[in-house]
Amino acid sequence: MTSSRILSLLALTCSMVSTLAAQQSEFDKVRTYANAHRHEIVAEYLKLLSLPNIHGDAKALQANADLLAAMMKKRGLDTEIWPTSSGVPMVFGEKRVPGAKRTILFYIHYDGQPVDVKRWAQPDPFVPVVRTDGIEAGGELVTDLSSATFPDAWRIYARAAGDDKAPIEAMLCALDAIGSTQKENVKIFLDGEEEGGGKGLAEVIQKYPEKLRSDLLVILDGPQHPSGPTIYYGARGGASVNVTVYTAKQGMHSGNYGNWMPDANVRLAQLIASMVDSTGKVVIPGFYSDVLPFSTEAKAMIDAVPDQSAQMQRDFGVGSLDGAAHSLQEGLNLPAFSVHTMKGGEVGGVIAANATAEIAMRLVKENRPQVMAERVIDFIRAQGYYIVDKDPDVAMLASHAKVAKVTSRALTATSGGAWRTDPNDPQAVFATNALKAVWGDKVVRIRTLGGSVPASPFIDAFHVPTVGVSIANYDDNQHTDNENIRLGNLFDGMTTLASLMLQ
Ligand SMILES: [Zn+2]
Repeated sequence: MTSSRILSLLALTCSMVSTLAAQQSEFDKVRTYANAHRHEIVAEYLKLLSLPNIHGDAKALQANADLLAAMMKKRGLDTEIWPTSSGVPMVFGEKRVPGAKRTILFYIHYDGQPVDVKRWAQPDPFVPVVRTDGIEAGGELVTDLSSATFPDAWRIYARAAGDDKAPIEAMLCALDAIGSTQKENVKIFLDGEEEGGGKGLAEVIQKYPEKLRSDLLVILDGPQHPSGPTIYYGARGGASVNVTVYTAKQGMHSGNYGNWMPDANVRLAQLIASMVDSTGKVVIPGFYSDVLPFSTEAKAMIDAVPDQSAQMQRDFGVGSLDGAAHSLQEGLNLPAFSVHTMKGGEVGGVIAANATAEIAMRLVKENRPQVMAERVIDFIRAQGYYIVDKDPDVAMLASHAKVAKVTSRALTATSGGAWRTDPNDPQAVFATNALKAVWGDKVVRIRTLGGSVPASPFIDAFHVPTVGVSIANYDDNQHTDNENIRLGNLFDGMTTLASLMLQ
């Protein structure tokens, strides 16, 4: 190597080191800001959590939207409240900066799940309480917040504390912390209809496409992996098939007709059991064929996620695992089959004449929901069932050996809600590197999130590269009683989100 090349290499290395150092000092600034403002951040967050936000309650959600819009305006965002036909508003804000290389749209939802007050350890889930640790770890109530220092281990307990108001607070406080050093254009969209679903998202995508267009969509939702800050590149969608098998027009006396009239409960159990082998693998032809085999790259990414299976088995009392996949992460990248409910029989002493199962499938991007539903229906037909889509009459029942009513539903016609952005897409790489610049190897990269997040409407409309980032503690009890956020996750979340606006 010539000395000039060595010199230029040295210069390049130095400039990389100095860029890294500059970035580090910017992240340190966010951390320092968070530490210096813990009191104000928590106070503002407690106020937001005091507003009931149960999905579908338009009046309550309007009050949330008004406060959120005021919080965004305070940070200098151009803010709008968008009405929808259901009466639940959406909130949008944007802050552009000169010389930005990209525009990032952050999606967060502000509605929450209903509460079962009796199951909570506090009198009202919308009167937030602060504890010195998690309840299970013996965290005690803090009654005087005036002189509190709000260490990382403390937690706020309230509905929506983890899901999904935490990233709203972290995002807005990150903007406070970075101030004029913001490098990317930022748009924030706050959905008021995520938990209960609704037409609002589709309506505003149609009405405000230019506002919602971006170079990168970042979904901020869900708890992070137990081992660290988490980025995900896809999520599953779904389809369902309801099947009712019939053996007569009505239930009949088991003393008079046992051994003569077939039992619909048994027939249904046999049908369902024939769909899955003894290890848990689904034997419906083609069930895994859209997905398997995994590419080497996909497999490597799946295997790189730390596996906490043994600990989780102990925590959840799971004595043996389903054998459809080798690991939890592999399972999340496959279509999954479950029977959510089975119902049959009316009263004692009578043989059941019909029995119903609700088959639910979680699907990945490679699956087409309609095709997957058809595979299930074809399998039922292959077991000798005559398929109908309405309740059969006596003549129809009498003229076929086996009759099943089948109805199916895909979450959305095209994608079923499943999506995945190629982790090598330049925008996905940008987001990954931003998180890594702060957290290094602690960042957990998830190829497919198990649950669903509403990215598909944006992806269908704008073909926008999409990733998800989770900041909440994994044990945040989202959707259930004693929902909480660990303060350390809120403050760390500020740095995580700032990293996406500082590159
Ligand atoms: Zn959520």
